[in-house]
Amino acid sequence: MVTVNPPVNPMTLLASFDAEIDQLIDCGRYFYQRGWSVGTSSNYSSLITRDPVRLLITSSGKDKGNLCHKDFVVVDESGKTLLPDQPKSSAETMLHVQAIKLPHVRSVLHTHSVWGTVLSDHFFDQGAIRISGYEMQKGLAGITTHESTITLPIFENTQDIPSLAKQVDEYMQSATGPVHGYLIRRHGLYTWGKDIAEARRHIEVIEFLLEVIGRRTILT
Ligand SMILES: [Zn+2]
Repeated sequence: MVTVNPPVNPMTLLASFDAEIDQLIDCGRYFYQRGWSVGTSSNYSSLITRDPVRLLITSSGKDKGNLCHKDFVVVDESGKTLLPDQPKSSAETMLHVQAIKLPHVRSVLHTHSVWGTVLSDHFFDQGAIRISGYEMQKGLAGITTHESTITLPIFENTQDIPSLAKQVDEYMQSATGPVHGYLIRRHGLYTWGKDIAEARRHIEVIEFLLEVIGRRTILT
């Protein structure tokens, strides 16, 4: 006998992740207010299961200051939305899928701040922004002293997201120390964490440090 499963209602499935969606909505509201996620830019995700990959992520083109539950979709490891009648996921979905390959990562957050945009261009020729000597570095997972160096690699911006994801992958595989995030030139910041709270803290810390570096660069 053939068993036919009833169609899954996307809103019913998403209702199972109300708490995670609420946290991501809260991130969007705060990042928008800080000017880091304006004009429908940015995207946020949280891992539901790793095997198989089921990733909760913002759908494309939504106002991040005013997200609601229907603005989220669930995708698989190829970035495809899993359920019928779901809106399109973010164009940058595969960068989230790439980051969650790191075994400790369960949430990925992306912002388009002014300082991230300016500094990713200013330091592009150096390949990375290296930050050392600031107390706020200790807000990043595993960093216990200001006497450390945080390296944020910078990749050229492109609309070819699979190619960019491959470059990020290669960088991470060859990195000798922990990678807390990266910048895309004239575009923005990607960072992550073991959960949404840690990823959010990393956005706050790195955006703070970028603004400090930017203001200091102007003053010297
Ligand atoms: Zn972006």
